[in-house]
Amino acid sequence: MPALTPFPAIVIGGGISGLVCAYRLQQAGIPVRVLEASDRPGGVIATEEQDGFRFELGPQSFLSTEPLLELIEALGLKNELLHADPGAPRYILFRGKLVPAPLAPPSLLTTPLLGARTKWHLVTEMFRRTTPPPNDESIAAFVRRKFGDELLDRLVAPFVSGVYAGDPEKLSLRASFPKLHEFETKYGSVLRGAMKSRPAKGTPRPGLCSFREGMETLPRALGARLGDALLTETTVTGARRDTSNGNSWFEVDVTRNGHRETLLASALIMAAPVQAASEILKDVSDKFATPFARIEYAPVAVVAAGYRLDQLRNAGNGFGFLVPRSERLRVLGTVWNSSLFPGRAPENMACFASFAGGATDPELFSKSDDEIAEIICGEVGRILRITGPPVTYLVKRYPRGLPQYNLGHSETISALAVAASSIPGLFLTGNYLSGPSISSCIEQANQTAEAVRVYLASIGVAGVGAVAHA
Ligand SMILES: Cc1cc2nc3c(=O)[nH]c(=O)nc-3n(C[C@H](O)[C@H](O)[C@H](O)COP(=O)(O)OP(=O)(O)OC[C@H]3O[C@@H](n4cnc5c(N)ncnc54)[C@H](O)[C@@H]3O)c2cc1C
Repeated sequence: MPALTPFPAIVIGGGISGLVCAYRLQQAGIPVRVLEASDRPGGVIATEEQDGFRFELGPQSFLSTEPLLELIEALGLKNELLHADPGAPRYILFRGKLVPAPLAPPSLLTTPLLGARTKWHLVTEMFRRTTPPPNDESIAAFVRRKFGDELLDRLVAPFVSGVYAGDPEKLSLRASFPKLHEFETKYGSVLRGAMKSRPAKGTPRPGLCSFREGMETLPRALGARLGDALLTETTVTGARRDTSNGNSWFEVDVTRNGHRETLLASALIMAAPVQAASEILKDVSDKFATPFARIEYAPVAVVAAGYRLDQLRNAGNGFGFLVPRSERLRVLGTVWNSSLFPGRAPENMACFASFAGGATDPELFSKSDDEIAEIICGEVGRILRITGPPVTYLVKRYPRGLPQYNLGHSETISALAVAASSIPGLFLTGNYLSGPSISSCIEQANQTAEAVRVYLASIGVAGVGAVAHA
């Protein structure tokens, strides 16, 4: 046994994945430490106030899935929750003009975005039974095969860039939209599958939400609950696994306030992004490096900008808009935050968040923040006919913003699962595993916490209570 008693559980990374996993363990009575390199919890979830505006510099909203609502309730945040109007119109830029996005079947048939041939493909898809090819198929290949290029360019690709900031030619359908693959496999038709799996009438449908004081409310509340268990400004530099007399534990090297120390843990939960995870785990096992190296990330820049209402002349009411690449602009899409949620802008002002870069425009990152803001605010200004520049703005860059669920991703994740299962006590959680959205990260973290609890109980360490909602 080591000279010191190991912590039952150490979580590396205090983004939403690591925080939720640690909180669930704490709730189950398992002593835990979260080691977070930056000076605040939350990872890419970042709300910042500037000149009276409340800017969201990372995710703009989340889907109110059951696990998320249950977490919000447990944290006492229910009264802080804001629901976006589910009917808030969304738009697609088409030949320089904003056109309502067709979200339901009737509008798909009337939208000017699609020609008669594509509409015919959509209507008749239900009656054409197809089988997915045996190999992993890209989203682009799938949509072309089933519906044609027009649907891909004008609707699917902009939507995909809104979720993954990704390239549909590279993204795997099976990994990034598993339901669509499942529908075709099971029913031979996506539409038939969607109809058959429609939730029963009256089942509440998850909608988009945020908090009164912004998205960072959630990680802040989790951080407060974790209290001293959350160590910020604590960077993990390496880890090893040690075994003696039938016991095993992890040694975790950290740098904190300029000092180096080594912490011990019975269970190690890796909740840092892929690059850091690969570096930290290289001395635990050589099985991680190759699959981790296969996961690419897309760079994303967020430009949050505030305007006076008189500059907007009624523009910017609704959810926002997405931009097909064929429009030859650099902005991928814009969310009209102050129209979605109250308290985002001072009186007579409005604020938007725009996204740029992504897998299809990584070159944008060679520009300075001011240049990015000028390009993006210029394009948004022309689309919405805004008069003059924003009164204030902030640019946040994520050089490795979103993991790409590219072709082969499912096999990569299986290889990581095999590697992790060969090392008792090691667990992976994060946005590259089962979906990048906040709600997917939370579901994944709940499941990871439960697996950790079961493991610790099996080795006779701190096996108290079940992990709630796992
Ligand atoms: C610009 C943008 C917009 C998005 N929009 C939405 C949206 O609207 N809705 C939605 O649901 N999702 C959205 N997402 C996705 C979602 O926000 C993320 O997938 C999710 O928050 C990731 O959480 P995570 O904890 O897995 O990773 P991260 O947030 O990346 O957290 C990982 C943490 O690990 C820490 N870390 C790294 N290395 C070390 C180390 N060596 N030692 C200690 N700590 C370390 C980091 O500092 C970080 O805090 C968006 C993402 C981005 C980037």
